[in-house]
Amino acid sequence: MALVFPSTHPLVKHKLTLLRDMKTEPKKFRELIRELTVLLAYEATTDLTLVDKDVTTPMGQARGAQLADKIGLVPILRAGLGMVEGIWELMPSAEVWHIGLYRDEKTLRPVQYYNKLPISPTVEVCLILDPMLATGGSAVATCDILKKWGARRIKFVGVIGAPEGIQRLTTAHPDVPIHIAAVDERLNDIGYIVPGLGDAGDRQFGTG
Ligand code: URA
Repeated sequence: MALVFPSTHPLVKHKLTLLRDMKTEPKKFRELIRELTVLLAYEATTDLTLVDKDVTTPMGQARGAQLADKIGLVPILRAGLGMVEGIWELMPSAEVWHIGLYRDEKTLRPVQYYNKLPISPTVEVCLILDPMLATGGSAVATCDILKKWGARRIKFVGVIGAPEGIQRLTTAHPDVPIHIAAVDERLNDIGYIVPGLGDAGDRQFGTG
């Protein structure tokens, strides 16, 4: 069974609509990406492991809990970078690992050009961050790299998914849950999501 979780939260739907709007400027776009990531990460982390932790309040002892899982964030360059800050607000101790991929124009396959993963895994849960799950090529390649590295639990957090990309990721890695704000209609013939929001990198960084 595919683990695809489009958010049903009204705040997510509201903010996604603002994000899609072609009149939204890069500053507002970056703010919205950060806010949406907080909401989506909240939904993606409901099953993190806790350990008991008691705490002393001004009035006495309270039973509490703390996160046991160490989290690694793996933003897919470059559009995934804008999603890191939002998660850091929730989980300041999350480690960030960068993996850079480009698409070989001849083979159309993702090629790794940058990888800062340590030799062995230092985290229990990896969150792959990419606003657009379009063809799924980069997401699949990143899962391949992380699994080869030894990652045991991987989740994908994105904003918009195309049916083609979701299908490709769930076929290659059926154990990786996909948390997104919306599933759109389709990819166009140059790999952009329709209706989507355009180029998520250009819209964040004011390029293009
Ligand atoms: N990447 C983007 O930024 N936008 C798309 O629609 C597809 C891939």
